[in-house]
Amino acid sequence: MTDVVVIGAGIGGLSAAVLLAARGLSVELFEAADGPGGKAGVVVLEGVEVDTGPSVLTLPDAFAGIFQAAGALLEEEVQLRALSPAFDYRWPDGTRLAIHHHLEQSCASIGQTLGAEAEEDLRKFLLRAREIWEISRRRFIERPLPGLGEMFSFQALLELFRIAPLRSMRGLIHQQVRDPKLRMLLERYATYNGSDVRVAPAALACIAEVELGLGGYGVQGGIAALVRALVRVGERVGVRYHYGRPVQRIDTSGGCITGVQWEGGSLRCDTIVANADVSKVFGELLPAAPQRPPSMSGWTGVYRARRRERVGHTILFPTNYEAEFADIFDRHCSPTEPTVYICAQEPCHGRSGWSEEEPLFVMANAPAVGEGPPEGEELRERVQQRLLAGRIIEGTDRLLWQRWPRDLEARFGGRGAIYGASSNSPFAAFLRPANRVSSYRGLYLASGSAHPGGGLPLCAWSGRLAAAAVLEDRGLQRGRG
Ligand SMILES: Cc1cc2nc3c(=O)[nH]c(=O)nc-3n(C[C@H](O)[C@H](O)[C@H](O)COP(=O)(O)OP(=O)(O)OC[C@H]3O[C@@H](n4cnc5c(N)ncnc54)[C@H](O)[C@@H]3O)c2cc1C
Repeated sequence: MTDVVVIGAGIGGLSAAVLLAARGLSVELFEAADGPGGKAGVVVLEGVEVDTGPSVLTLPDAFAGIFQAAGALLEEEVQLRALSPAFDYRWPDGTRLAIHHHLEQSCASIGQTLGAEAEEDLRKFLLRAREIWEISRRRFIERPLPGLGEMFSFQALLELFRIAPLRSMRGLIHQQVRDPKLRMLLERYATYNGSDVRVAPAALACIAEVELGLGGYGVQGGIAALVRALVRVGERVGVRYHYGRPVQRIDTSGGCITGVQWEGGSLRCDTIVANADVSKVFGELLPAAPQRPPSMSGWTGVYRARRRERVGHTILFPTNYEAEFADIFDRHCSPTEPTVYICAQEPCHGRSGWSEEEPLFVMANAPAVGEGPPEGEELRERVQQRLLAGRIIEGTDRLLWQRWPRDLEARFGGRGAIYGASSNSPFAAFLRPANRVSSYRGLYLASGSAHPGGGLPLCAWSGRLAAAAVLEDRGLQRGRG
């Protein structure tokens, strides 16, 4: 009998495993794939390793707390890269805007490229975004999912009022920002949790503070280096990792967890932290439970492209950004003119490519599986056309790897949604599954499909909150992650 079984070596599972083992519990982690990382994974192409998932790390403090609990320091385990410029935003009329890790540089660049009025609007908008971020962080992200009583307390309601719960993210942006290009830049942050800016709550404006105000990072050696560091620190505190070992069943008795089964084996335990998508937990491993509408999915690809001077992240905006949201969320089809995101992995993460070519990770948003008819090849072709027209790639550059929503669905479940359930309603965030599952004693959730949601730092917090709940239930800790 082991103290805790963790199912899945994605960010939430790795984080919870480190924290629980650091408190002296025996932890066995089972991962279906041959290595760790989950969506934060890698592929080796013609001898070169490339990240195939996240490329922007925000809020590194979410990880610092995990390393610290295990007696390590984030800054000694991974090297963060504050890029300047970090983002190269491009519009069809030829405008290019550089955004930097440091806010003052970004404001100056916006002033220069879009004008003084745009800079002034951004500064004002960020004051609001900062306030929303502080409330969200303190009231929601860094603590267990609040119950109804807590949500409707006088103080909570006052704060809720400050984050404009009934206004859409787009409404808030349009109220405060006049420049159409700056609007687009800010609206794109809704896609950071796979949402529709037209209906997502204004609270998501806090993402602007997280990326523009606090600054995003590259990671030396790729996001994979962060994953490896979590595993390394986990090994030091005694986590035992089992790769290529999909759990097939969770055993229960009288509503309590009693163990796990895999092909040819089983293990008794009374505590499970499930990092697998909730649709897999309640569907494949346990009886099914109703699922909420999914966030966006996407097409991703890796090009072997002739090396040239590039910025870490490039965004090619379309002529009509609103049409992209309408395509995905109203017509349930891939965008006619997709926004294309490119991560040049050499300048972004200091990765090395081939002798004359470099790896470019490319992404375009698409509906989750089952939201509309199955996707054809059109999206990839439209992306390729945009990359060629924008001179990001040349005709001789080659697409080496690609992944469709259906591939994400096959590997991770959740209909291929990248960020769990969508946040397209004011209270969606409060409807995510809690980290402590009330219907099964001993079952905890730590993933982007559970509280507080998707994205690297939030998944780390999911792991922290799940671990804190386990420790609390064992009388080993009181309080938060
Ligand atoms: C293309 C892409 C781009 C992204 N860009 C960013 C970005 O720039 N910044 C950012 O912060 N976030 C980004 N994200 C989101 C971020 O990567 C995810 O939110 C996060 O990595 C998800 O972690 P998780 O803890 O939910 O676990 P997951 O990554 O979902 O991993 C779950 C793990 O559980 C395993 N598993 C499932 N079932 C079983 C089973 N039965 N037995 C054993 N193991 C099982 C799976 O194999 C998987 O490894 C991106 C994601 C993608 C896909």
